[in-house]
Amino acid sequence: MSEPTTHAYALTEEQEDLRREVRAFAQREILPNVMKWDEASEFPHDVVKKLGEMGLLGVIFPPELNGAGLGYVDYVLAIEELSRVDGSIGIIVAAHNSLCTNHIMLGGNDEQRKRWVSKLASGEWLGAWGLTEPGSGSDAGGARTTAVKRGDTWVINGNKTFITNGTYADCTVVLAVTDREKGTKGISAFVVEKGTKGFRSGKKENKLGLRASDTSELIFEDCEIPAENLLGKEGEGFIDAMRVLDGGRISIAALALGIARGALDAALKYAKERKQFNKSISEFQAIQFKLADMATELDAAWLLTMRAANMKDAGLKTTLESSMAKLYSSEAACRICDECVQIHGGYGFIKDYPAEKFYRDVKLCTIGEGTSEIQRIVIAREILKGK
Ligand SMILES: Cc1cc2nc3c(=O)[nH]c(=O)nc-3n(C[C@H](O)[C@H](O)[C@H](O)COP(=O)(O)OP(=O)(O)OC[C@H]3O[C@@H](n4cnc5c(N)ncnc54)[C@H](O)[C@@H]3O)c2cc1C
Repeated sequence: MSEPTTHAYALTEEQEDLRREVRAFAQREILPNVMKWDEASEFPHDVVKKLGEMGLLGVIFPPELNGAGLGYVDYVLAIEELSRVDGSIGIIVAAHNSLCTNHIMLGGNDEQRKRWVSKLASGEWLGAWGLTEPGSGSDAGGARTTAVKRGDTWVINGNKTFITNGTYADCTVVLAVTDREKGTKGISAFVVEKGTKGFRSGKKENKLGLRASDTSELIFEDCEIPAENLLGKEGEGFIDAMRVLDGGRISIAALALGIARGALDAALKYAKERKQFNKSISEFQAIQFKLADMATELDAAWLLTMRAANMKDAGLKTTLESSMAKLYSSEAACRICDECVQIHGGYGFIKDYPAEKFYRDVKLCTIGEGTSEIQRIVIAREILKGK
């Protein structure tokens, strides 16, 4: 198996242990079922429950709220190891931790944190985060879903689309327009619990990859929620959502790293096994150069991601570094998975080998939580601002 040279970021003994523990779990509990879940688009409920018991549904949250009390570096290591075996598990954990739960942690008050974060971080509840709508993806500020104050309640109407964990989440953070005149400063965040009247999940998407994860439409029809389900102050939901994405983009970089590492492992193994012209194909320089580029790009992506995670753990703003990590890791991972298929030749195209699944799964990484084009816009804006 390939390993990044971690010296520059000297992981602690505890971090190495965490990595080993998650790796062993993924090999034991996930690997045997990967293709079954993929073909059937089956959500792995049992594994998600076990991830909760391991603390992986509350990695970055404090112990007093039932979290594991770890940091973003640990979080990256965990998502990378899970995604190395199955990216679907990586995205389920990422949407739950760094989008839903983290928005409540960042935007919510103490009472709201106690009420929801403690249930989410322990794994008792699964979370989802609803920003995207059919008509507003990259232009998230163009949301149409509305929330109108009526006495002691808010009434939500509208649709969200492509929401990870949408069908199964026990609660969802939903972004809705509370004052259209104010643009993005008129968007607020709300927690909507499963079973609330007027709220249901709709179409479950049939996807190219990450098929064991759930991606669903959410429908709000005169959905009435108590006033205390407003997170933070009215009108601050969009600003908080952008802060949430600074962390979320690190998790998508980790998802990309994991899928790409799985692909590099598979390519190294196959290149040594496969013989043509009476030689192992790993003896051909053309194949060696591909492997060399794959390993180098992967380590570069890992270092960028670790830089962003380290900065986040130090409490620094990471808008630029998170976008760089997400952009580079996801694009490098797509190239690595493409070369993995190429190294497998025809066997890369069939489902008896893992290459084709890595190739399908990885594409989401250049799209979710801001496309590559949006990351470039963010990076350019940040560097043009100067220090
Ligand atoms: C599997 C999956 C899981 C997801 N999970 C979630 C989730 O949990 N919660 C959530 O809220 N959303 C989620 N999403 C939505 C995801 O974040 C959006 O799909 C993504 O932000 C892109 O939006 P869009 O699909 O509407 O594409 P569009 O915004 O319509 O983009 C189409 C193309 O135009 C380009 N483009 C758009 N604007 C510009 C511009 N200004 N300059 C240059 N190019 C531009 C884009 O880069 C892209 O290439 C998920 C999506 C998928 C596929």
